[in-house]
Amino acid sequence: MEERTFIPLMIPDIQQKDIDSVTEVLQSGMLIQGKKVEMLEQQIAAYLGVKHAIALSNGTATLHLALLVSGIGPGDEVIVPALSYVATANVVELVGATPVFVDIETETFNINPELIEEKITSKTKAIIPVHEFGLACRMETILSLAKKYKLIVIEDAACALGAKSGNAFAGTQGDLGSFSFHPRKAITSGEGGLLVTNNDETAQKLRVLRNHGIEYRDGKMDFVAAGFNYRMTDIQAALVLSQFQRFEQILAYKQTLASVYFEELRDTDFILPSVPEKYLHTWQSFHILVPDHLDRDLLIDYMKTKGVGVNLGAQCIPNETFYQQKYKLNCAELFPNALKANQKGLVLPLYERLSDSDLKHVCDILKQTANG
Ligand SMILES: *Cc1c(COP(=O)(O)O)cnc(C)c1O
Repeated sequence: MEERTFIPLMIPDIQQKDIDSVTEVLQSGMLIQGKKVEMLEQQIAAYLGVKHAIALSNGTATLHLALLVSGIGPGDEVIVPALSYVATANVVELVGATPVFVDIETETFNINPELIEEKITSKTKAIIPVHEFGLACRMETILSLAKKYKLIVIEDAACALGAKSGNAFAGTQGDLGSFSFHPRKAITSGEGGLLVTNNDETAQKLRVLRNHGIEYRDGKMDFVAAGFNYRMTDIQAALVLSQFQRFEQILAYKQTLASVYFEELRDTDFILPSVPEKYLHTWQSFHILVPDHLDRDLLIDYMKTKGVGVNLGAQCIPNETFYQQKYKLNCAELFPNALKANQKGLVLPLYERLSDSDLKHVCDILKQTANG
């Protein structure tokens, strides 16, 4: 039998040229935000076809600043999906506003646009659609509701750099789009994030807020706001910028791996993800649902003993302790789809460093469990 080492859920593919690129920065001695950050911003803005990209220290900082720059605070309500990474709702709490949860669609795991309007009140200021697992939300309804009720749209595209609905890139249709370069995403800076916008004034405010509230006028420094230090370092920017040069190949390879999963798991009881027509999924997570007769948590443990790292997909946020204690929402009644995805969802390994044969190995184990 072929010897295998443990297949983790995710490992970033850091190649020698990525390391060289970081080394170059280290040797230059210019470690904080500088030329590399600027290059990263320019290249991502050009790729997405947006006017401004602002690199920040992580994807949660991007969402936080997006809310602050939009003037959202105490007394305001912000609509968020019930299923996401907790950061999406945490930032709403952090600015003193109230997250209003909306259930997801089971097919896409994204916010159900049809359920948004009934949650809009006179206090609603913004919607944060999350392009979960690398699949863009159905934005048309969300954008038209935003227009009708004058709401700000902050796209949480942390998982979805490169994802498309039709010709539109995820993160580019709202007022602001937020991205993350955490190692669980397709390309990584270790920690890192980036905000995009087409609004000049918003971009300027964001640049000031990320850097202690400093504005430069005629080469002179002025402190015009109580800002943050949410800067990305050039070390981080160099790392992700180097990977970005092969981003198209990374996405294409992930498509290939996803098609292996579809092929291998087609005839099992596992519920496979679906991609609506004209959507480009980037497979940040290949998220399946385990059938009713299998215990998802036991399956995670079992897969580990077989040398495969798998994990649950995302939180049903209102069901997590902080939110349950604060809002006491009955999730089974209000967010059945998000709860189900949280309890039955399973993310399979899918990344650059995996081979076809690794994937088939994962599928063989899954097939045995589903049938046994
Ligand atoms: C990863 C992620 C974040 C947070 O990004 P960080 O860079 O880890 O702070 C926010 N929202 C979603 C949907 C994510 O997947």
